[in-house]
Amino acid sequence: QAKRAGRNNLVNFESGMVESVTRRYRLEQELKQALDRGEFELHLQSQFDRDERLIGAEVLLRWRHPVRGLVSPAEFIPVAEESGQIIAIGEWVLSEACHLLHGLEHSTPPGQRVPTISVNVSPRQFRTPDFVDRVRETIEQTGIDPSHLMIEITENMLVSHASDAIARMRALAALGLAFSIDDFGTGYSSFAYLKRLPLSEIKLDKSFVDDVPGTPGDTAMVEAILAMAARLGIDVVAEGVETCEQFDYLKANDCTRFQGFCFARPVPARQWVDERLEAMEKRPSS
Ligand code: C2E
Ligand code: MG
Ligand code: MG
Ligand code: MG
Repeated sequence: QAKRAGRNNLVNFESGMVESVTRRYRLEQELKQALDRGEFELHLQSQFDRDERLIGAEVLLRWRHPVRGLVSPAEFIPVAEESGQIIAIGEWVLSEACHLLHGLEHSTPPGQRVPTISVNVSPRQFRTPDFVDRVRETIEQTGIDPSHLMIEITENMLVSHASDAIARMRALAALGLAFSIDDFGTGYSSFAYLKRLPLSEIKLDKSFVDDVPGTPGDTAMVEAILAMAARLGIDVVAEGVETCEQFDYLKANDCTRFQGFCFARPVPARQWVDERLEAMEKRPSS
C-alpha cells in the first residue's frame, strides 16, 4: 500500500515537472512572437505630489495574449528575464515610452509641467554592454528632453555588479536622465550607496506602505527611510498607496510623491493621454 502510494507520488511529481517545463517552454515561444505580433502594450499609472497634483506616471507593461487575455508582467517578466527576451522587450518599452513622452512634451502648454515618465529596467537589460548607447540613441531618435525620463532599477542590481552599475548610472545621469530605486527596502539596501549614486528618487516598497499607520515598531523602518531621504535631498515615492490614512501618515512624515490605487490605477497609455488632455482643457492653468 505504502509502496504504491510512493510510486504514485513519484509519478505525480514527474508529470507535474513535465507540465511546468512544457508550460514554461510554451510561454517562452509565445513571448518570442508577442513582440512581432504587437501583443504588448503600455499602461500608465499616475504619480502625484503632496498637493495631489499630477507629476508623472510609471510605465507598466501588459501582454494582451490572444487566448489568455491581459497577462500580468509579474508572470512573464521573470520568464523573459531568464531567457534573455527581456532585452528586446525592454528596448521596445523604452522606445515606446520615449515616443509617448515626446507627444506629452508637445501637448504641454508653455509654463506647465511636463510629466516625468518612469520606465522599469530589468537587471539583465541594464547589464547589456551597449545599454547606455541604446538609451542615448533612443533619446536622439525620439527627440525627447531626457530630464523628463526616469529609469527605475532595483537595489540588488547595485550590489551584484556594483562598480559597473554605478559607472553606467553616472554615464546615463550625464545624459540628463534621472534614476529611481524601485521596491526600496526589500533588497540588500546599503544606505552608504545612496550617497554615491546619482539618484533623484527612491520608491518605498508597497509592503512598507501596507504597514502604515500601524504600531510604532512597524513604522520605524518607514520613518527612518523617509527621514534619511529627506536629509539626502532624495524624493520618496510611496508605491501602492491604497487608503487615505496611508496618504495622511506618509505626508506627515515628509514623503514627497504618491502612487497607488487610492489615487489612480494603471490605464492604457492612450486613455491616460486623453484623460490628461481633457483635464488640461477643464483647468487650463493647473
Ligand atoms: P513595480 O515596478 O513595483 O510596479 C508597481 C506594481 O504595483 C504594478 O504592478 C502596479 O500595478 C501595482 N500597484 C500600484 N499601485 C497599487 C496599489 O495601490 N495596490 C496594489 N495592490 N498594487 C498596486 P504590475 O503592473 O503588475 O507590475 C508588476 C511588476 O512588473 C512591476 O513592479 C515591475 O517590477 C514589473 N514590470 C512592469 N512593467 C515592466 C517593464 O516594462 N519592464 C520591466 N523590466 N519590468 C516591468
Ligand atoms: Mg516600478
Ligand atoms: Mg515598485
Ligand atoms: Mg513593487
